[in-house]
Amino acid sequence: MDLNSPVSVEQSSQEWILEERPDRPEEACGVFAVYGPGEDVARLTYFGLHALQHRGQESAGIAVADGHTLTVVKSLGLVPQAFKESDLATLQGHLAIGHTRYSTTGSSSAWENAQPMVSSIGSTTIALAHNGNLVNTVELRDALKDRGIRFRSTTDSEVIATLVDHFTQQHGSIRGGIRETMKYVRGAYSVVLMSEEAVYAFRDPYGVRPLSLGKLNDTWVIASETCGLDIIGAEYVRDIAPGEMVKIGPEGLESEQAVPAEKPSLCIFEFIYFARPDSVLNDCNLYEARMRMGAAVARSSAVEADIVIGVPDSGVPAAVGYAKESGIPFGEGLVKNRYVGRTFISPSQSLRQQGIRLKLNPLRHVINGKRLIVVDDSIVRGNTSRKLVALLRESGATEVHMRITSPPVKWPCFYGIDTDTQEQLIAASKSVEEVREFIGADSLAYLSVPDMIESTGGTAAEYCAACFTGEYPVEIPDSVKRGKLSLEPVG
Ligand code: SF4
Repeated sequence: MDLNSPVSVEQSSQEWILEERPDRPEEACGVFAVYGPGEDVARLTYFGLHALQHRGQESAGIAVADGHTLTVVKSLGLVPQAFKESDLATLQGHLAIGHTRYSTTGSSSAWENAQPMVSSIGSTTIALAHNGNLVNTVELRDALKDRGIRFRSTTDSEVIATLVDHFTQQHGSIRGGIRETMKYVRGAYSVVLMSEEAVYAFRDPYGVRPLSLGKLNDTWVIASETCGLDIIGAEYVRDIAPGEMVKIGPEGLESEQAVPAEKPSLCIFEFIYFARPDSVLNDCNLYEARMRMGAAVARSSAVEADIVIGVPDSGVPAAVGYAKESGIPFGEGLVKNRYVGRTFISPSQSLRQQGIRLKLNPLRHVINGKRLIVVDDSIVRGNTSRKLVALLRESGATEVHMRITSPPVKWPCFYGIDTDTQEQLIAASKSVEEVREFIGADSLAYLSVPDMIESTGGTAAEYCAACFTGEYPVEIPDSVKRGKLSLEPVG
């Protein structure tokens, strides 16, 4: 690749994860930034990251600057594991960025891959935190390596930081460096970046991953989701627009359309599962959207039953919607063991054989002798659904009817969500009836693509729904497709 002209598309820690790979799409990071003279910005960022914990549980980091010095603390593990009170005390300044990470590129275990990623541009230090995935990382990396640049990590985020460094030196300002970088990188990126003096945020021209701007008195705040603003009492102002860059510094907030916006392509899976139900995306309250998704499945796939239960967490509002629409009572049938999914303590063999029970505990007195409608957000490989159905039958359910509040996942994601290769996606090679048979349910029904879109209050033109439709908004280079895309899905 020639870095003098923008390009086309062509081109383990000790942590135990209780399933070999999680059997659902996994989110790929939360980002947070704050510019607030007079505020304890490290503490604001810490609480912001707490609210964004669901977007990444492998590592967390905070960088703080005071106009002269930039300091970063980052560690593997959950936010409370990553920071001690003494860490926050050392992070003094008036601007900060933070990150919670789930890896989709780069080893999850390497501390070097934890963010914010720090680098130097001459005498200026920058820190960067990224949510999303680039699709032309390999090509960009090769071009930079040809220029003698060495990489410390295996992430696409380091490629972005390196390009910003490269172009900042050419253009003489970080703003110019980011603007030029945005002409080269392709894929999904919602990025917060800081120097010792200013915070920057920029979002890919398709707007695949969310990024919200808020205000707390005179303090500007940026977060992957509005729940990151709510937790510190900041008011939502607006979203960072696709292709927009903002700089927040001593002169206040400055905004520019750094690259032209493309077809809006916000990830629809954020509505179904990733984002927290108390977040608002595209003016849509996600709790209500999930209720509408449940209600839509109730209308399209009615079945007689005694009780409707939801698979925590995202299945619960959908189950409430299903119950309301169908008139069948809602019940709490499953309790989630919330923080056991990723643990640094290795479970014994006998504990590992408990499998799904380590995560979900059925309420036998609710389930026993009942015909159940079980509402879940998605089926990826099918293994967890199969274990869940077996567990519910063991707990006395006489019938188990699975209702899924997304369409069948048939295509892998290349934009920062870990949905496995296409071969591993059960709906890519099996019909709905075959999936039902595999998971052992009495019946199985999915939400349709039109009902999914309608439940968000938006239109198909606003979203990426590629893992259901195969229509990828940002073109995927063949070299990236290979290995992940191998089938012509059924149905
Ligand atoms: S492919 Fe699926 S998971 Fe990935 S961005 Fe598009 S809708 Fe979201």
